[in-house]
Order: sequence, then C-alpha cells, then structure tokens
Amino acid sequence: MGKVRPEETAMSLISCPECSNQVSTQAWSCPKCGAPIAARNSPPLISPDGKRPVTVEQTSKSIKLGILLCSVAFWIGLITAFSADTPQQSQGAMFLMVIGAIGYVVLKIARWWVNG
Ligand SMILES: [Zn+2]
Repeated sequence: MGKVRPEETAMSLISCPECSNQVSTQAWSCPKCGAPIAARNSPPLISPDGKRPVTVEQTSKSIKLGILLCSVAFWIGLITAFSADTPQQSQGAMFLMVIGAIGYVVLKIARWWVNG
C-alpha cells in the first residue's frame, strides 16, 4: 500500500509522433514503431544523453572548490594581517580577507541556488 506514485497510476494516452498510434504516456517508446515518447522522456531530471545531471554536478563541484579557495584566502589573509610587519602588508592581507569572505558568501548563495 502507498508504494505506487500517483503519476504512475494516472494513465493517459498520447499519439505517437511517428505513426500516430495511441501510446501510454508511461511508455518509454511506441510499442508499434519504437519511437521515443516525449512526454515520458523529457520531464525527468535525467535527459537521454545525461547532460544536465553532469552539468549540475560539475557546477556544484566547482562551487565547492571555490568555497574552499575563498575560505583558504580568508584564513591566509587573517593570519597575514596579524603577523604583518608593514601597513602595506596588513592592508593586502585585509584585502585578501574581504575578497575571501565576499567570495565565500556569494558561492554559498550560488550553491544554494544551484541545488534549489
Ligand atoms: Zn509509433
């Protein structure tokens, strides 16, 4: 009980784009001519060529890397700021800290945006 999802039970028929045969929207392809059924193949997250999930995965990976780099930049800036000998050094370190902090926040938002 409760195992069958509502969209699986709601059967509807569409015309095959190739041969106009009545095909269930739940079918992957037309049983008569074998043409792929768009209603079944287009809405899922995984596209037939698998491009979208890879793109999302790569994006979230590069965002993760960016977050890591920004936090490293922040910490290097923080440590350098405390151990700076000259005002120029401490100014540069502060700049690195600010860039790291802004990048970190921006990338955190970007990751949230990508993952939904
Ligand atoms: Zn067909």
